[in-house]
Amino acid sequence: METKLNFDVLLYAKVMNKRTLLSMNTYSSRLVETTVNELARLPGIGRKTALRLTLHLLRQDMAVVDALGNAIIRMRQDIRYCRQCHAISDGDLCEVCANPKRDRSVVCVVEDVRNMMAIENTGQYNGVYHVLGGIISPMEGVGPNDLNIATLLERFKPGEIKEVIMALSTTVEGDTTNFYLFRRLKEYNLLISTIARGIAIGDDLEFTDEITLGRSIINRLPYEGTLGR
Ligand SMILES: [Zn+2]
Repeated sequence: METKLNFDVLLYAKVMNKRTLLSMNTYSSRLVETTVNELARLPGIGRKTALRLTLHLLRQDMAVVDALGNAIIRMRQDIRYCRQCHAISDGDLCEVCANPKRDRSVVCVVEDVRNMMAIENTGQYNGVYHVLGGIISPMEGVGPNDLNIATLLERFKPGEIKEVIMALSTTVEGDTTNFYLFRRLKEYNLLISTIARGIAIGDDLEFTDEITLGRSIINRLPYEGTLGR
């Protein structure tokens, strides 16, 4: 009796599984299927989410869908790269480079635009940027010539820049890039700094990894300088 029951359960599970698979891959409309396929190409979007978004769009007013579609097409067609810092931009210069209130004597070097946005969001930085467009990674075949390094060096020639902040990831690739940049930048009369690496706010020392804790001891700060931060 028990064996029979188990068999039925197994059969049921098999049928249901088949049904789920079928319903995942079969749409009653080619148009819907195409939209699902396109959305599912986006990072972090699986087919289920793609279907949910498609059905959501189907329920919207035409004007809403029109605005979304046009925003994506216009963004892709009209986007430019800032001729100075390589950030994505609407015009020849990005909003940061074009802003007369920014301090042009400090340049913060970042891997990509997302990192630039993260630093902008802190509201703590008033200098300008340089977007490398990646970091040196021998494993992935990315060398210095693949990055916006030549244009970075060009920027120092007029002698107006006093400081470079290297704000790259604390990975092996980030460290390699920092070292490469340091060697190339040494000949210019610049203050070269990297962003501080240390204990995160709210972290318990007991659970901090040894490398971070070790660096935090070596790069300790005068206490007075940490007040009011
Ligand atoms: Zn710019």
